Amino acid sequence: MAQKNKPERIGRLVCILLMCVVAFAGFRYYKKTVEERLQINQMISVTNECLRVGDWKCAEKNVRELLKSAPNDTNLQMHLAGILFEQERYKECIGYIETLNFKHSDLDYLVEKSNLLEQEMAQLGVEKSMHFRLEFDGGPSKKDVMEALAVLEVAYDSISNLFDFMPENKMSLVLYQDAEFQGTGPRPDWVGAVFDGKLRVPVNMMEYREVYRPVLFHELTHAFVRAMTHANVPCWMNEGIAQVIDASHNNEDRPTGAPPSVEALENSFVKEPNTEKAKKLYWYSRKMVEELLQRDGGGAAAFRKFAKCLQDLQSLGMDGTLQKHYETTAQNLLKSVR
Ligand SMILES: [Zn+2]
Repeated sequence: MAQKNKPERIGRLVCILLMCVVAFAGFRYYKKTVEERLQINQMISVTNECLRVGDWKCAEKNVRELLKSAPNDTNLQMHLAGILFEQERYKECIGYIETLNFKHSDLDYLVEKSNLLEQEMAQLGVEKSMHFRLEFDGGPSKKDVMEALAVLEVAYDSISNLFDFMPENKMSLVLYQDAEFQGTGPRPDWVGAVFDGKLRVPVNMMEYREVYRPVLFHELTHAFVRAMTHANVPCWMNEGIAQVIDASHNNEDRPTGAPPSVEALENSFVKEPNTEKAKKLYWYSRKMVEELLQRDGGGAAAFRKFAKCLQDLQSLGMDGTLQKHYETTAQNLLKSVR
């Protein structure tokens, strides 16, 4: 949904991990047979895919495999350190970095940040969460952290049940203290939780009970969608299901004017600056997903089928998976709701 500016400078780690696994100085690539090269290229593209969507288990498996062919490749070694960090395996991350025989500022950063996170968890007396890898920004109190976590764990369980899907990787959660929401002023119109690969939640939003629930469910749904598929999910499917689950836009009137095109609905409209246009795209997204769910009665089975449809996106594409699960295409679906 509409997003507030990011509360936190984008972590440097994001940059480290988005750097693709491409430079293979240590590989002695030219000495490999054609078949070996093909295999390596295939593994590199899978690795990059897993890094992109935050599937750390898959990324670790592939990077370890690549390291067998190129044990001294510093790019791979840095990735492995970052992947351990992302899985909350801080001690292992530090231990691994100590075995490396080169220095790099990104590695120093990982060691520093790992130590800091261990310390913060210990100081707050917070146990590691079952489903979230925690980071803090701005020194939230233990009470705020515990309360936010309790709410998030409940939301996690219900969405997991709804889709009948248990993510393999922990979700990254940044709990931050947002100065804007400190104290007990009037309820804010918008509470700044976002999902940008990490779930960023202002801990003080818990004071605004009637607002935080839909916001958390909305953003957490995006996190689940990302965990369910490596595919680029059409924006209308992602925003549609998130709105259905957050249930905060149910009674909005149909926007006036011509419906948007399938292309406009498919491409990202999250940052659409024109409010009217954005509203329309969100409205049609929700309608289209609702329509799919209603065709299966709108109950638990309907959500599970939608989850399967998302999971088949990667192999079948948008219209392929819609055809398989609903015998329709995005174009026809759009026609049926307008
Ligand atoms: Zn959204």
